[in-house]
Amino acid sequence: MNNSIFGHLESSLNGYLTDLTRRGESADSATAPPIAQAELPRVVAALHAVLDEHRPDDQGRCPTCRKRLFGRSPAPCRAYLAAHLCLLVTEDDRPFNANTPGLSTH
Ligand SMILES: [Zn+2]
Repeated sequence: MNNSIFGHLESSLNGYLTDLTRRGESADSATAPPIAQAELPRVVAALHAVLDEHRPDDQGRCPTCRKRLFGRSPAPCRAYLAAHLCLLVTEDDRPFNANTPGLSTH
């Protein structure tokens, strides 16, 4: 494990997410609502905090994702793209065989 401050933050955050995932996967109809009520607002707040750091400029480019001082920012923002893919793109939205290794989606 990385013993830097970031390493400790990363480890504790990964532990929280692993624990939350495990609790969610093993929850039943009685235990799922309290978990969702307690943890969902915290996860949403965390995602909002991250995305607040990635607000696009007037051209839709994210200054936080810019890698070089005078380089162009990627569009769309990588944080927004990752959040969108994780939360809003379902299996049905993906191109046929997109998850099959070795097969082209074109
Ligand atoms: Zn960004």
